[in-house]
Parts: sequence; C-alpha cells; structure tokens
Amino acid sequence: MADYFQEMGWSPLAEGEAPNHLLHLVRLFIDYNMFEELGETQRLPPPASIEAVNNLPEVSINEEGKQCPVCLKDYEKGSSAVKMPCDHLFHPECIKRWLTKTNSCPLCRHELPTDDENYEAYRKEKIRAKQRVNDIENLHNCMFS
Ligand SMILES: [Zn+2]
Ligand SMILES: [Zn+2]
Repeated sequence: MADYFQEMGWSPLAEGEAPNHLLHLVRLFIDYNMFEELGETQRLPPPASIEAVNNLPEVSINEEGKQCPVCLKDYEKGSSAVKMPCDHLFHPECIKRWLTKTNSCPLCRHELPTDDENYEAYRKEKIRAKQRVNDIENLHNCMFS
C-alpha cells in the first residue's frame, strides 16, 4: 500500500507537480483515443460517482477566446460548459469522459465524491493528515511570529 499512497501524492510537497501530469494524461487519452486502455494498472483514483457528475452545473460561455483546458479548443460563444466545484470549466463531453475514469479535476486535482468505499475511507484519512499538517503549521506560526 505504501507505493499506492506515494503515487497518489500523499506527501504535501509533491502536489505542485501533480496537476500538469494529470492534464497531460487527459490530453494524451483524447489525442490517442486511449481511454479504453486506462485500466487498473494506471492506479488513478476511481471514477467520480455518477450522481456527482450529473449534479455538476452547466454554465453558458459568453466570452470569446476561452479554451477548454482538456482539448485546447475555444468554446463557441453561447455554448455550455461544465463547471467543477473548483470553478474550472470544461466541455461537457471532455470532462464527463474523464470523470468516468477518475474523480479529480485535471487542472487542480479537486476531487469529486466516488462510489468506491475503500477509496472514500482513504480520502478521509488524507484530508485528516493534511489538517494535522495545517494545525502544526498554525501552531508554529503562533509561537514564532
Ligand atoms: Zn474540450
Ligand atoms: Zn479544478
């Protein structure tokens, strides 16, 4: 399990490198139509729950020149985009295809709920671990500033 946690970016220091890698992966899958190839071996977190994906709000794009970060194509004016909870926008088909493979925003790794109980337990633990780090930092700042 240790390897798994490491690859998931368990260490807070590794997080800065992760989003680009993920976005690169999404584009690769779209460019080479590799979605089908992505199996257990890739060790990505599980898909987002269908309910969570269906509940994502759609917004209409009114500005010119905005791009979908996944396919890098401009949105057509007046077309709709899916808004993730982190405020990142994507073509509905681009992000929905991605979220059937894994649960996180390809730009910032914001995670949606999954239907996978084991993963949800792991995710809660990860949030707790992060909270502990924050607590220690706050304590440190209180004591030394
Ligand atoms: Zn797109
Ligand atoms: Zn995001």
